[in-house]
Amino acid sequence: MKQIIPGLWEINEIGDDVHCYVWEWADGITLIDAGFPTDAATILNALTTHGYALHQVQRIIVTHVDVDHSGGLAALKRATRAPVACHAVEKKFLENPKLRQPAAYYLRPAYWFLTSFTSKYRMRAVVPDELLVDGQSLPEGFTVIHTPGHTPGHISLLHKEKRLLITGDALSNRDGQLRQPIHLYTPDERNTIRSIWKLAKKYGNDYDAIVFGHGPPILQNGGKRITALASQIFSQEI
Ligand SMILES: [Zn+2]
Repeated sequence: MKQIIPGLWEINEIGDDVHCYVWEWADGITLIDAGFPTDAATILNALTTHGYALHQVQRIIVTHVDVDHSGGLAALKRATRAPVACHAVEKKFLENPKLRQPAAYYLRPAYWFLTSFTSKYRMRAVVPDELLVDGQSLPEGFTVIHTPGHTPGHISLLHKEKRLLITGDALSNRDGQLRQPIHLYTPDERNTIRSIWKLAKKYGNDYDAIVFGHGPPILQNGGKRITALASQIFSQEI
């Protein structure tokens, strides 16, 4: 595991396709996102190798239901017995992952095949234990920010005291640039850019460090970077 800032670890043992995080706090640890289905064993192994006992996992929060973020969730929940939390709107997708479809129609047959028959992409349904809403304060110190677009119940997590934002896939940091999430898998572009606007305008002064589902972290001036992205997107819109 790789420390990003004090308290926040990236589980880099699963590679670079997607990032999952461990947050250390007073009561134990919280996992943020769960990787692909085939990542669960690696994540559990990384936790124990790092010296955590599985019963220390207090909660597993998923930013959204996509096979790379919540694919490992069923196995992680079973092994740790930790409660699973997601946004209230995302509940039905977690309970029925087949509802999540690529935005591009032509990808849907291949996606259906992969998510039905291949071990890397076949997601098991999970019933969440806790439903989160926008603005909710969590005991870990995070504020839940509803950032819909990539999925309807997508959330980002803000830790004001640590000046940290965990974006999930509300945006990514691919190829050295902050970007909107991949269009092919983002059914609601209008809400995606509204969510980026929200992270910039409502919360842009509250964080410096940002970690993403995809791409390396930004450790300084994160609020300014997202504000600049929002300005760029909305100047193109006019
Ligand atoms: Zn993703």
